[in-house]
Amino acid sequence: MRIKVLFNYRSIRRVLLILLLLYSGVIRSYGYEIFYPAEKNSVTTYDYGLFIGKARNSEAVTINSSRVYSAPNGAFAYSVKLNDGENRVVIRSGYSTKVYNVYKKKAVQKVQSEVNEFDKRTVIVKNDNVPLRSAPEDIGFNIVSYLFKGTRVVINGSKDNYYRVFLAKDKIAWILKSDIDEEAAVNDSIAEFINMNSQKYKNATVQTVSFTQNLPYTIEDGEKEILFRVYNPELSESSVYTINILKPKRYFYNVTLQDGFYTFKVSEVPKTFEDCTILVDAGHGGSQSGAMGCLGDKEKDINLKIALELQQILKQKGANVVMTRECDGEITLKDRIKIAVANDVDIYLSIHMNSIGNVGFNHSKHRGTGIYYFNKNSKELSQILEKSITKSAGTKKNGVRSASFAVIRPANYVGVLIETAYMINPSDTLLYTQGSFAKNVAEGIIDGLEEFIEK
Ligand SMILES: [Zn+2]
Repeated sequence: MRIKVLFNYRSIRRVLLILLLLYSGVIRSYGYEIFYPAEKNSVTTYDYGLFIGKARNSEAVTINSSRVYSAPNGAFAYSVKLNDGENRVVIRSGYSTKVYNVYKKKAVQKVQSEVNEFDKRTVIVKNDNVPLRSAPEDIGFNIVSYLFKGTRVVINGSKDNYYRVFLAKDKIAWILKSDIDEEAAVNDSIAEFINMNSQKYKNATVQTVSFTQNLPYTIEDGEKEILFRVYNPELSESSVYTINILKPKRYFYNVTLQDGFYTFKVSEVPKTFEDCTILVDAGHGGSQSGAMGCLGDKEKDINLKIALELQQILKQKGANVVMTRECDGEITLKDRIKIAVANDVDIYLSIHMNSIGNVGFNHSKHRGTGIYYFNKNSKELSQILEKSITKSAGTKKNGVRSASFAVIRPANYVGVLIETAYMINPSDTLLYTQGSFAKNVAEGIIDGLEEFIEK
C-alpha cells in the first residue's frame, strides 16, 4: 500500500517540487558571503563594526536597511556605528538574511597616577634591547635608545610600571621596572672614562668610546649630524660625552656595547644595486593571515606574491636579496629584524596590504598605497615609493606617514613598510585581483629604488 502511494505520479511531482524549492533556497542563501567578522556574536570596545563580504552579481545588499555599495566583482565593505551595549546588525541580500550581534563595551578610563619620588640609587639593566623612553608610556615614538644588558642606570622615581632614570641635570628618561635586575649586586665604584677613537671608512664613520663600566646612552638624529650621548650621572650631573658624526645624504646607523666599549657607526647607503643588500619582507604568513579581503582572500598571500616578484627583479638588477619568507611560513617580528641585522641589510622593504581599525570605513579615504617610516632616515625613500608605486600599479596615493611598526623601528637600515592597497576597499579589490598587480607593484618599487639608490 505504502509503495503504491510513493510511486504515485502526483506524489513524485510533489517531492520533485519540494526538492526544487529546497535547492533554489540553498543557492539563494549563498547569494552573499560575509568574510569579516568571522563570528555572529562579538564583543568590542571600538566605535564602529566593519562588515566586509562578497555579493552575488547584481544582487543588492542592505545592512540595517541601508543600501551598501558593491563593486562589479561583488566586493562590499560597510561600517556600522556602534552604541554602548547590544547592537543588532541585519544584513539582507536576495532571500537571505543574516543577523550579527556586536556588544560594545565601554573603554576603561585610565586613572592618572602620581610620580613616586625616592633617593637616587644605581641599578642594573637585566635584558638587551631595552627601550629607554622620554615618557612612562609604551608608545614607539618616545623611545630615545635601546639599552644593553648590564648597563648601570641611576633611578630616583617611579610611575606605574616604570622607573624614572636620571641621566644628567635636566635630562631624565623612563625604563620598565621589569627590565631592571633588582637582585643584582651593584659595583660601588663609579665608571671612569678610558678613551675615544674615530675611524673613517669608504662608506662609514666609526667612533668608539670606552669606560670601565656600561653606561646609558641616547641618540638624536639632528639636522646635519647624528648625536650619540653617553651619561655618567654618578660622576657628576654634567658628565655627558657627546659624539657627533656627520650624516651622508642617505644613511643609517647602529650602536654596539661590550664591557664599557661603545661603537657608534654611521653608514652610507651604497650607490649601486650591486653594492646593496636589500631585504624583502612579505608581511604575516602561516596562521598569521593579516587582513581579510572583501572576497575572502588573505593578505599574507598577496604580500608573498609581490615579494617574490620583487626578489626576481632585484636579483636581475644584481642586488644581494635577503627574504624573510619565500613560502607560507610563520615568522615572528623579532626574527624578521634578526635576519635583517645578521645580514647587514642596507634597505628593509616590508610588504603589506591595508585594512582599518577603530574608525568608520570611508571609500575615498581608505584606499590606495600608503608608505610608513619610523626613523627620519627613511622618509625620503617613502616619498619616492609612494609616487613610483601608484604610477606603476595604478593605485591612489594614500600618503606617507611615520608609524611605530616593529620591523621599521631599528635605524640599522633604511626601513619602509608599504601598504600596497586596501584589502577592504571594493575598488582596490578590483585592482589587486588582476593577474599583473604583483608585478606592477614590484616594478614600481624598483623604479623608486633606482631613484633612491642611483640618484
Ligand atoms: Zn599587514
